Amino acid sequence: MVQGEGCKTIMNIFGTSITQLRELIKQKKVSPAEVWEYFAKRSKLNDEKLGIFITRLNTPLQKVDNLELPLAGIPFSMKDTYNTKDIRTTAASKVLENYIPQYNATVYQRLINAGAMLVGKTNCDAWGHGSSTENSDYKITKNPWNTEYVAGGSSGGSAAAVATNSTVFDIGEDTGGSIRLPAAFCGIIGLKVTYGLVSRYGCVAYASSLDTVGPMATTVEDVAIVLEVIAGNDTYDGTSTSIKSFEYKKTLNDSIEGLTIGVPKEYMTDGIDADVRSRVEESIDVYRKLGATIKEISLPHTKYAISTYYLLATSETSSNLARYDGIRYGYNRAAFGPEAMRRIMLGSYTLSAGYYDQYYKKALKVRTKIHEDFEQAFKEVDVIAAPVSPTPAFKIGEKASDPLQMYLSDVLTVSINIAGIPSLSIPVGLTSNNLPVGMQLIGNHFEEAKLLNIAHQFEQETHFFDVIEKGRKKYE
Ligand code: GLN
Repeated sequence: MVQGEGCKTIMNIFGTSITQLRELIKQKKVSPAEVWEYFAKRSKLNDEKLGIFITRLNTPLQKVDNLELPLAGIPFSMKDTYNTKDIRTTAASKVLENYIPQYNATVYQRLINAGAMLVGKTNCDAWGHGSSTENSDYKITKNPWNTEYVAGGSSGGSAAAVATNSTVFDIGEDTGGSIRLPAAFCGIIGLKVTYGLVSRYGCVAYASSLDTVGPMATTVEDVAIVLEVIAGNDTYDGTSTSIKSFEYKKTLNDSIEGLTIGVPKEYMTDGIDADVRSRVEESIDVYRKLGATIKEISLPHTKYAISTYYLLATSETSSNLARYDGIRYGYNRAAFGPEAMRRIMLGSYTLSAGYYDQYYKKALKVRTKIHEDFEQAFKEVDVIAAPVSPTPAFKIGEKASDPLQMYLSDVLTVSINIAGIPSLSIPVGLTSNNLPVGMQLIGNHFEEAKLLNIAHQFEQETHFFDVIEKGRKKYE
């Protein structure tokens, strides 16, 4: 509850969407400063319970006067992998413990230009290496639904921040599933965008040919609103798109009749947890009722996805992390944690003379095959639906000592990064153990509008998204 500006109105802003909160601010029921204060307090409380943030701000960084801006006064958080001028950016590694950037990441600059107000920088696996946030050099983020479980990773703090309504939205980063997996584990929405749709400038690089920047939120419309602000060309990122216009909100209500949804048989095997499969199947049935045609498809190179991804990602990260040599960013390389060391060693090996052809080059060839699987599939179907993860959230410590088991959590997400296409993770119910299940809607290059439209229709039609409401209620 907050005190309205200059009057006695008490306004409950808990759980409000961007559109609702903007309306309250515009009508002067509550001021941006009061909204910020409210979320800063919530962030602190929930951080103490769950380990969500690496850095929280004590005061708002700017005053928002222009209430017409698309995100005027909307509080948000960002994974601590984005450069924020004068505010430290650690990538959850001790190597960058004292690194204060001199410039802003493009995504951050665009958000503050649009009136959004930063509340804090969230915890993650160091350098984005992981699927549970247990590889953070600072703390473990606990799952808001059950604190014995992981929040997912690597953007675990981001998902927990949004799920507990500590912030209204968050910017995560997805190289092999890091937005979608924690979104699924915490019961919120997360969008992995087409490679190049959002500028990577000022993002601490993990694997540059796979890294993507995307929003996490609690309504599809909020994801669309944020995406409209952050998408688009940036002269500082040579891989950013040249597409000029981005309209995601306008098409949310379009009819989805006549749509063909593909379900890849390789993503619905016996290896998938029974509850996860059931929730996804039930959701596919909803689409059937909404007039969509469901078709089984095959993505035959799925079995090579994990090895291909971990060869490419470790090769690229060993090259990207070479810059932290103790000279320009302070501190020294001895501060790299065990997972980062493992990946640097693996990547240096696969790129070394004599092994390059055998590993890295071969992985690049399989990358093309995986991409072709999707190209083929999109000749037959409009979108693809699949689980995000083979299991719901697992217990803290369960996989921490077995890197291979941890890598396997990414089996359903990494192919999408390898192909560079978009995928939206949405909540589709709970397991018998009361943990959220996520489904991903995968589209062809730059078809984010279609994914958001399809998810929005589902959101309007079903009670599945009640998961979001239920999750955050515990933190009211
Ligand atoms: N879990 C995957 C990895 O460890 C993905 C991480 C990410 O998307 N940043 O590489």
